[in-house]
Amino acid sequence: WKERDLEEFRSFLAGSGPVLVATHVDPDGDALGSQGAIVLWLRRRGISAEAYLEAPLPRRFSYLPHVSDLKVYARTDAAPFPPSDEGVPRFSRAIFVDAASFDRVGRIAELLADGAAVVNIDHHVTNTRFGKLNFVNPEASSSAEVVYDLLRSLGEEIDADVAVSLYTGYLTDTGGFRFRNTSAKVFRDVSELIARGVSPADVAEYALDTLTLPHLRLLRLALGTLRLHAEGLVATLTVTQAMLREADAAYEDAEGLVGYARAIEGVEVGILFRETTEGAIRVSLRSRRNVDVSRIAARFGGGGHARAAGATLAPPLAQAEANVLSAVEEALRELRRDSAAGEGYGT
Ligand code: 5GP
Ligand code: MN
Ligand code: MN
Repeated sequence: WKERDLEEFRSFLAGSGPVLVATHVDPDGDALGSQGAIVLWLRRRGISAEAYLEAPLPRRFSYLPHVSDLKVYARTDAAPFPPSDEGVPRFSRAIFVDAASFDRVGRIAELLADGAAVVNIDHHVTNTRFGKLNFVNPEASSSAEVVYDLLRSLGEEIDADVAVSLYTGYLTDTGGFRFRNTSAKVFRDVSELIARGVSPADVAEYALDTLTLPHLRLLRLALGTLRLHAEGLVATLTVTQAMLREADAAYEDAEGLVGYARAIEGVEVGILFRETTEGAIRVSLRSRRNVDVSRIAARFGGGGHARAAGATLAPPLAQAEANVLSAVEEALRELRRDSAAGEGYGT
């Protein structure tokens, strides 16, 4: 990092008032692990900090040390908290982790006071640098890696609780150290974290190898929607609200289903379409080698990484599906043209 950015971060830390630590909606292991690492580290340094989510914590991450006093801000749900405007805390400083753009933090944005100082820590190529200070490294495997690099640059020691939080981010965003973002540095970093007391077996057991029954019931229903397109290069799955009801599943139980679409032999792009309770269509894109899905997602107002990206589209479902499919097929045609011209495809 530039010394000036580190200096500015030090003065941010020296400021007054509690720090809000938050992440993107539908948080994954990297989002929650990075959030936990930051909030625990701030507190150990004597800085008052609060971790907020805008929906209840996904159960498989309940081992994370910071969740014992995680706050849920869910004013518009059936059980609103806080009950009135007066009860809404307003933070004059905040750190957002793993959020590619400001709209990804959802209703947490309501917790910021006017003119609040925002620090943005992330690793998405599509990051919009929405913070006053931006620590963004698209080369990093995970936001946890960016957080760890930042703490190291500040000369900070980390304890076992911070280590297990960071480890969760590396583990989940590399798909268990299998995706293309798995580097020699990732293994050097996690070996340090393990030396600090992390149990890789325990974390993997919770974060990767525990499936809920609703997830499996949903998988059975979703597989009924499996379709191949573009001569088998694209596979799609769909999860509707009716399927969620039938499986007695929550929206988060669809997490990971898109992996089955991508995993099919010969498939280059796997797509999952999900109907949200608000009636919007969430699309998850996963690519195997050649298609940069972050660019496709960006066309629909979303973003992400080259191999994993997402966006939210307007209903109806069938129209959203058709639009995304034709964008993916167009990207495949472009690759084929490039390969005919002697570049790109197959490299
Ligand atoms: P998922 O498909 O698991 O929701 O998201 C895959 C990746 O794309 C994640 O890294 C996620 O942060 C990013 N992503 C998903 N949806 C959006 C979106 O609507 N906007 C942006 N900017 N990134 C997204
Ligand atoms: Mn994430
Ligand atoms: Mn991430």
